[in-house]
Amino acid sequence: MLNKLGKYSFGIGDRFAHQGVYQLKPFQAAKKFGTDITPVWNKSHREHITVGSKPESVKEEAEQAIKKCGWEQGYMIDADHINLQNVDGFLASSDFFTIDVAYGIGQPCGENKIQQFIEFNKPYIGGFSVPGSDKIFNLNKNMLREFAGQFLTAIYEAQRIYQYILEKKGEGNFVAEISMDEVDKAQSPVELFLVCSGLAMLGVRPVTIAPKFTGRFNKGVDYEGDLNIFAKEFEENLLVIKYATEIFDLPKGLKLSVHTGSDKFSLYPVINQLIKKHNIGLHLKTAGTTWLEEVIGLAEAGGSALELVKGIYVEALNRFDELTGPYSTVLNIDKKQLPEKDTVEKWDSEKFVNSLRHIPDHPDYNPGFRQLIHTAYKVAAERGELFTGALEAHSAVIGKNVSENILERHIKPLFL
Ligand SMILES: [Zn+2]
Repeated sequence: MLNKLGKYSFGIGDRFAHQGVYQLKPFQAAKKFGTDITPVWNKSHREHITVGSKPESVKEEAEQAIKKCGWEQGYMIDADHINLQNVDGFLASSDFFTIDVAYGIGQPCGENKIQQFIEFNKPYIGGFSVPGSDKIFNLNKNMLREFAGQFLTAIYEAQRIYQYILEKKGEGNFVAEISMDEVDKAQSPVELFLVCSGLAMLGVRPVTIAPKFTGRFNKGVDYEGDLNIFAKEFEENLLVIKYATEIFDLPKGLKLSVHTGSDKFSLYPVINQLIKKHNIGLHLKTAGTTWLEEVIGLAEAGGSALELVKGIYVEALNRFDELTGPYSTVLNIDKKQLPEKDTVEKWDSEKFVNSLRHIPDHPDYNPGFRQLIHTAYKVAAERGELFTGALEAHSAVIGKNVSENILERHIKPLFL
């Protein structure tokens, strides 16, 4: 049961809830090219807290965009990275729940549960193969025990939250994603297989799973890591998830979800080729890339709008540790790359825009500057109506940037 979530889906976070229409237009364009992609508006509890918004605002924004654009296909509202402590606020307005259980990884688990898990996976002891690959995935009793000690608490936690949502929303009224991406160590394809097995054993029925992939997924910039290793691992993950769906009778169409997925330009051709080769779906989440386009649009507008975003940058520079701290595992800023206050204050629109816009081979492009501005949405939120008023005054130039970024730099290389 995939509900309204199609084979291909794309998460569009919108921190200030002003770009819904411009975010939806690229999906309409993709449809004209013959590719159906389900838009999913995602916003995490953490983002709501930072900008002072409420979960229902995401649904309102989506509904307005749907109406204005005349979108007749499905769309979903993702309660992103929720847990039992904060899910209540999202129940009424969301139909996609990203159940984040990364915090359960490494937590001890009782011997009974471990035994039960080993018993459940007995058929795969000695190794297993999956259709589409010659490889034998090695699995023995010790590996099962080690995996259970590491992941079983997180899987039980997923069950607890899933059951809670199921009771409140009712079957068929929501879809669930299980995410374990916010950890340092990547999960292997065998671990992904066992995550699927554990979820199936406990009756959890996800439609997407977000593991931690190999390499660094930094916010708003390209992937850092070995592309060949990523490609090999990603293909094994696709095959494993397809096989696990079959043998554990998980929801048909179960697919991988890529978090911090925006701007991973070097990965998109690899992912595109592999999902088509194996005829499997994909979900990819973005959020900050739209906020960065808002800053680009304001800089392009010039005048007081340019001064506003310069001020936001300068303040972010002064509050570097506070703003980058919460994102330490997903940023890689070379401080020497960051322009000084006096330098930026002299920049014209063009210089500011070219330093920020993600055109990797542009001589002015500055990934450190871009990553720091990624974290500066907190500063913009503090500006209140001064900032949102500027978004409204310059909506046309901002919107053009938002749509072009999603369509040309994301959707086309990833899905078309
Ligand atoms: Zn995540």
